[in-house]
Amino acid sequence: MHILSKSTYIKGMQCPKALYMQKKHPYLRDRLSIEQRAIFRRGTDVGILAHDCYPGGLDMSPASASQFPKKAAETMENMNNPSVNVMYEAVFQYNDTLIMLDMLVRDGDRWTAIEVKSSMALSETYYNDAALQYYVLHGCRVPLSDFKLMYLNGDYCKNGPIDVDKLFRSESVLEYVKLREPFVESNVERLKGVVALPHAPAIPIGTQCHNPYTCDFIGHCWKKVPQNSFLHMTALNDKVLFEQYHNGIDTNAKMLERVPDNSVETYQIEALESNTYYIDYKIFFNVLPKIKLESSAFLNLLLYRPAIPETDGMKPYQEMILAFALKGAHEAEGQSVWHCFDDHGKWKEAIPLLIEKIAKYEKIVCFTPQNTTSTLLRHEIIHNQSVADKVFNLFEALEAAHFYHARIKNGFTLQHVTQAVFPEMELFEHSRILMNALGGDFPDTELAIHDLCTENETVERIFRHFCK
Ligand code: SF4
Repeated sequence: MHILSKSTYIKGMQCPKALYMQKKHPYLRDRLSIEQRAIFRRGTDVGILAHDCYPGGLDMSPASASQFPKKAAETMENMNNPSVNVMYEAVFQYNDTLIMLDMLVRDGDRWTAIEVKSSMALSETYYNDAALQYYVLHGCRVPLSDFKLMYLNGDYCKNGPIDVDKLFRSESVLEYVKLREPFVESNVERLKGVVALPHAPAIPIGTQCHNPYTCDFIGHCWKKVPQNSFLHMTALNDKVLFEQYHNGIDTNAKMLERVPDNSVETYQIEALESNTYYIDYKIFFNVLPKIKLESSAFLNLLLYRPAIPETDGMKPYQEMILAFALKGAHEAEGQSVWHCFDDHGKWKEAIPLLIEKIAKYEKIVCFTPQNTTSTLLRHEIIHNQSVADKVFNLFEALEAAHFYHARIKNGFTLQHVTQAVFPEMELFEHSRILMNALGGDFPDTELAIHDLCTENETVERIFRHFCK
C-alpha cells in the first residue's frame, strides 16, 4: 500500500502535522464545507470533458482504495499493449507514493502525460502537483515525450456544441518538472519519515494553518485557543499575529499593550473581549447616502459562473444571472422573485425585468462582495455611473467602516455579519444557494428561492439595525 498520494504530499508540504493527522487520525478532521465540496465537483466535471480531447481511452479509476495496487499493475500492462493509446486516471506508484494521472496519451514509442485544471490560468500549486507526478512517472520508468498542463481557454466562446480542442489550452511543463525532481525526492523522503513517527510532530499553530489552504484540523489544533483570542483579529495579518504569539504574547491583555491606543487593532481586541462587534460609525454614516425606505428596494442577485459555458455566446466562467429577489413597496406581497433554475438558457430574460423593476425605486440596497454596480452596468441593466449611484452596497459600507466581529476572520459574509449583529437569530441554510453559484448539485428550486428571499430580508434587517 502507498504512504503518500498527491493530496497527502500537498498536505504535508503545508504542515507535516496535518499529514500525520490525516494518515493516523483522520476522524479528527473538520467537516468539509459545502463550498469545498462544490469546488471539488467542478474540477471533476471539467476533467471528464477534457477526455474528449483524447477520446476512446481506458478509464483506470479504481472503484475503491483497495483497488489501487490492481489498477497500478493494469496500467503497466496497458502500456505494453499496442492497442491501448489513451488511459484516463492511470495509476502509478513509486517509492510508496501513488498518483492518478488525468490522461496518458501514446506518442509513438513514448507517452504524453496530461493533467487537467479547471481554472483559466496556471499557478505555482499546479506546477508543484505536476512535479510530484513527474517524479513518480520517472520512477516508474514511463518514457515521456512531454508533460502538459491543460486548462480552460478564457477566450473560448461557445457557438454550438462545445469544441473541446478550443475550450482547452495546454502548456508543456516538462523542463520545469525535471528540474524540480531532486526537490520532490527529498520531500517525499522527509514526509515518509513524518508518517512513520510514533506521535504527531509537535508543530504549533501558525500561519500555515490557513495558507495556502485552510487546514482540515483547525478544530483539533486550535481547540485551546479561546474563541475571543486576538489571533482572530483581522486588523493585523497572521504573520504579525503569530510572531507575537510565538514570543509569549498569548492573551488579549498582553496584545493590547503592543498595539497603538485608539487604533482599529485596539477596537478589535476590545470587541473580542466584550464579545460584540466593532464599527466606525463616523465612516459608516459618511458613506451612507440619504435613503428613504419607502422608495427603496432590497435586491439579491444570484450570479452563476459555470466553468464550462452553457449557452451560445458565453465564455468559461462568464457570469449569468440565475435568479433575483427584489423586496420593495412596489412588489406584490412585498417581494418579487425571478429565476431560471429550470432552464439556464433563459438567463437574459432577467435583464429587461430588472430594468423595469429598478426604475421604480430611488435606491437599491444590496449586500454582496461583488461590485453590484459593475454587474448591473455590465448587463446594461443600468447605463451610466450616475444611475449607478442609486445602488448602495451594505457590504462595502460595513467593510469601509472596519466592521469587525470574531466571526469575520472566517470571511466577511452575510452569514457572519448576521451572527455578529443578531447572535440570537436562527440562521438560514444559505449554503444551498452557494451550491448553485459554485456549480454543485442543484438544490430544490423552492428551497433556493426561499433562501434568496430570506437573505434579502436579512439584509434589510441588518440595514435597519445600522440606520436606525
Ligand atoms: S491546524 Fe495548523 S498546526 Fe494543526 S495540522 Fe493544521 S496546519 Fe498544522
